[in-house]
Amino acid sequence: MKIRSGAGTLILAALMLLSSAAFAKTSRPKLILQITADQLRGDLLDRYRSVFTGGLKRILDGGYWIHRGDVDHGLTLSFPGQTTLATGMYPSHHGLTANEWWMERNGKWQEVDVVIDEQYKTLATPQRDAASPRNLTATTLGEWVKLANRDSKTIALSAGNSIAVAYGGTKADAVYWYDSTSGRFTTSTFYAAAMKPWVSAFNAGELQKYESRDWALSVPSGKIALANPDATDYENKGHHNTFPHIYDAESRADADGGIPTAYSHWFTATPMEDEALLGLAADAVDAERLGQRGVTDYLAVLIDSTDNVGHKYGPLSLEQLDTLVRIDRALGHFLDHLDATVGPGNYVLAFSADHGVVDPNESKTGRRIRTEEIEVVLDRIEALAIAHKGSREQLVEIIITELKKVDFIADAYSEAQLAAPSTDPFIKLYQNTFRKGYTTDFPLWTDKQRAHHPARYGVIARFKENMIIDAATGVHGSPYPPDRLVPIIFFGANIQPGSVETGGRTIDVAPTLAAAGEISAPHGLDGIVLKSAIQP
Ligand SMILES: [Zn+2]
Repeated sequence: MKIRSGAGTLILAALMLLSSAAFAKTSRPKLILQITADQLRGDLLDRYRSVFTGGLKRILDGGYWIHRGDVDHGLTLSFPGQTTLATGMYPSHHGLTANEWWMERNGKWQEVDVVIDEQYKTLATPQRDAASPRNLTATTLGEWVKLANRDSKTIALSAGNSIAVAYGGTKADAVYWYDSTSGRFTTSTFYAAAMKPWVSAFNAGELQKYESRDWALSVPSGKIALANPDATDYENKGHHNTFPHIYDAESRADADGGIPTAYSHWFTATPMEDEALLGLAADAVDAERLGQRGVTDYLAVLIDSTDNVGHKYGPLSLEQLDTLVRIDRALGHFLDHLDATVGPGNYVLAFSADHGVVDPNESKTGRRIRTEEIEVVLDRIEALAIAHKGSREQLVEIIITELKKVDFIADAYSEAQLAAPSTDPFIKLYQNTFRKGYTTDFPLWTDKQRAHHPARYGVIARFKENMIIDAATGVHGSPYPPDRLVPIIFFGANIQPGSVETGGRTIDVAPTLAAAGEISAPHGLDGIVLKSAIQP
């Protein structure tokens, strides 16, 4: 069932909650916090647990920890995964089924970012299009909180460009993200005509404190060996792959004519970006008095450097371990700040990830699929499409047959196949990310514009396991276990501490967190309340 943002069912659900005796306690949590670490694969927290002394240690020791949570949809990409965490719905139902689609507009195929909306502009840089949730077809936990009490506030903050939109939805009080072009936290005119003073003040002042131009190693020397050996030749393509990372050295133009890296881009592949994000989140708690006003507020804090560092150096790199050490420390300070302001026991949080990632396959079987190999396949499909005289349906079958001949492709699916019932586990996973007419080029990605890409015919290809596109050191997006394996942790008010290997999916995070926060969720969600995580 598809939940749209029409409020009728939601108001009914809220009324039912008022008359329900399900939550008999008098003091409900004052703050619901949702924290997502982009690309944080579940096993990394197990592997590095002994290094943590701050916020990660606190939630792992005291929370309900599902070590191997499941992202059970086929395209394990950021917007689909993040929005699933925010809505309790599969991408097929929340609408953001990929990071970008190719759409035909005025007779021309164009790449369309799933949240960019030309009706709205980036605040303070009005020449640049900004984001809106116009493609979002479900409501978010942040919106359920506001629906339960109109005095409640919903705020979403992300380090990654526009990701906060997935959590803020249409009814948020503030939605800000770190804009890697301007190097500042900003928002869209969809959400506000003017910056919140506390964000402007942070940009002008405290942000600079985090903008260190050196990234030095902070992992204790006795723990370095927990990560893979540093400076392998596949890490960041063999360049600048060891500590300390120094902007002035790493930003210079390559000898092959590459352009210099802007500081704000370099910064996003360092954990300093998320140290800043957690600093901004503490300022939001103070300035908006979140959790201190007698109602339940919602705050989403969306960590991004884990994704950029994982792509650049790999998930088991020393760089990713250092990123987690710094996030552990910054999260500890932030939780201390919540204890001092909101009060311990007055907040509940969920910590998870939008997807995992596969290890660079230089270290095992499998191989990298080079762009040129993909171009050869796409050239052949294009020639077949141009020569084809029959129906579109016949051509779709020809494309699928051709794709299945390719040595790195396991299968390919048409829109008709994804719309019909199936017992094939891969088809089921792809059905959870399928929206007719919104097919992405992924994973057959190249820079060349093509009118006859398989995606123009609604066809999506599944690569064989460990066959990854050569887009980065670490790559995700597949329906295989490493990309689907994420931690799911609940901590705080109403949470029953515990530790389980499996038994939770990312679709279950929003309904479970809503139940712990004593907020009514809409009927017909794909996810369920994980009852074992909630105190009886
Ligand atoms: Zn992601």
